[in-house]
Amino acid sequence: MPTIFTKIINGEIPSYKIAEDKDHFAFLDINPNAAGHTLCVPKREVDKIWDLSEEEYLRLMAFSRKVALAIEASVPCERVGISVIGLEVPHVHVHLIPLQSMKNATFQHKEKLTPEEFQKIAETISGQVK
Ligand code: AMP
Repeated sequence: MPTIFTKIINGEIPSYKIAEDKDHFAFLDINPNAAGHTLCVPKREVDKIWDLSEEEYLRLMAFSRKVALAIEASVPCERVGISVIGLEVPHVHVHLIPLQSMKNATFQHKEKLTPEEFQKIAETISGQVK
């Protein structure tokens, strides 16, 4: 059975898309630690990040870096943090999180956004992806 992220990549489930290339897809996390919290996902369905080949891992990181620079350029924050957890969705994803403080990194405090706010943030970040 395809993962929820594969369904998002295939357009079967809606998402607030940020960027895409041949092998990767980036979209806003629906339950964000902070506004602009983005997930970067390889299209190939692999559960754990360490099960990617070295080349796939490095390419995912290069894609995530591009997206992180776009977040940094468009979302007010101290810096953009990176986490890999994977306890909820068994399909590799890199969390990119705009940080104001350690609170944003803990996954214990969530920000509520309206669909309009999600849409606006997605457009702002995706407009900065080089
Ligand atoms: P984890 O697997 O623990 O790294 O967490 C999975 C993340 O995916 C969580 O932060 C969820 O909020 C996020 N998530 C789950 N379903 C969706 C979805 N349909 N759209 C966007 N983000 C999602």
